[in-house]
Amino acid sequence: MEIEKVRCLIIGSGPAGYTAAIYAGRANLSPVLYEGLQPGGQLTTTTDIENFPGYPEGISGNEMMEDLRKQATRFGADIRFGIATDAVLEEGKNRITIDGKKVIEASTVIIATGATAKYLGLEDEKKYAGMGVSACATCDGFFYRKKVVAVVGGGDTACEEAIYLSGLAAKVYLIVRKPFLRASNIMRERVMKNEKIEVLFETNTVGLFGDNGVEGVNLVKRWREADEERYSLPIDGFFLAIGHNPNSEIFKPYIDTDETGYILTDGMTPRTKVPGVFAAGDVADPLYRQAITAAASGCKSALEAERFLMEKGL
Ligand code: NDP
Repeated sequence: MEIEKVRCLIIGSGPAGYTAAIYAGRANLSPVLYEGLQPGGQLTTTTDIENFPGYPEGISGNEMMEDLRKQATRFGADIRFGIATDAVLEEGKNRITIDGKKVIEASTVIIATGATAKYLGLEDEKKYAGMGVSACATCDGFFYRKKVVAVVGGGDTACEEAIYLSGLAAKVYLIVRKPFLRASNIMRERVMKNEKIEVLFETNTVGLFGDNGVEGVNLVKRWREADEERYSLPIDGFFLAIGHNPNSEIFKPYIDTDETGYILTDGMTPRTKVPGVFAAGDVADPLYRQAITAAASGCKSALEAERFLMEKGL
C-alpha cells in the first residue's frame, strides 16, 4: 500500500478540523486534512448560524464552512477528499489508512471527526430535512419563535433542548417513548414545571406531514399495546434529541473513550493518551457541541501539535 509521510494530519472538516488547519498552516506544519464523509461537517445540515461571534447578520452553515476551508487553504493546508478507514496510533509514527487504499504516516494527528446525531430512521426525517426537521435546537430554534415545536427524547439533551425552545416557541411537546424521563432529577423537574412544555409519555413518532415543510406529526400512544392510540398534532418544527454517536470507532483500541465513545482528553487540553495525538470538537465533547467550542479545541490541538513537533525535533 502507498505510504505518505506528513507532519500533521487532521481528520475531519467541521469547525474543529478547519480551525486546526488554519493554525497548523500558519505554523508551517504543512497540514494535510481529510474531509471525511460529510465535507464541512454537521453545520452544513443546519440553516443559518446566528450565534458565531463576528457575523451580526448570521451566515449559512455552508458559507461559513466554505470560508473556513478557503482560510485554511490560504495558509497552505492540503485539503483532500477521503475517509479515514483504519488507524494505528503510536507516538510520532501514527498510521492512518485512507479509503482502505493509502496509508498516511503522521507525526501528529488531530482527530476532529465529529459526532453524528441519531435519527429515528423515518423516511419523513429525510423528506423534511432542513424544512422543519432539526437535530440541533441551539442552531435552529430561533426560526421557531412563537411557533409550535416537538422534541423527541427523554434524556438530558432532550430536556435541555425543550427548555431552550420554550424560551422561543409558543409551545413545546416533548415526545418520550417511556412512561418516565431518563434525564437527571434537576432537568426533569425543570421540564415538568415549565408551563410551555407538555410531555407526551409512552408516545412514539411514526411520521410527519405537511405540504411545504413540517405541518404536523403522527404519533402513537402505547404503541403495539391493546389500547394503542393513534393521533396527529399540528407542529411547525420537529427536533431530534435522542443522542449522538461520536465518530471515534477506529481510534478506540489506542485511546480512552467514555462509555458512549466520546474521546477522553487530559484536563483542559486536547491531548489523548497517545503523545502527539489530539482530539478536537464534538468527537471529544458530549456537553457543549457548538461551532465556537469546536473551533477553540481545533486551535488548541494545532498549538499542541506544533509544540510536540518542536520538542521531538520532528
Ligand atoms: P441519552 O442516551 O441519555 O438519552 C437519549 C434519549 O433518547 C432517551 O430518553 C431514549 O429513550 C431516547 N431515545 C433513543 N432512541 C430513541 C428512539 N428510537 N425513539 C425514541 N426515543 C429514543 O442521550 P442524551 O443526548 O440525552 O445524553 C447523553 C449524555 O450526555 C448523558 O450522559 C447525559 O446525561 C449527558 N448530558 C448532560 C447534560 C448536562 O449535564 N447539562 C446535557 C446533555 C447531555 P429511553 O429512555 O427510552 O432509552
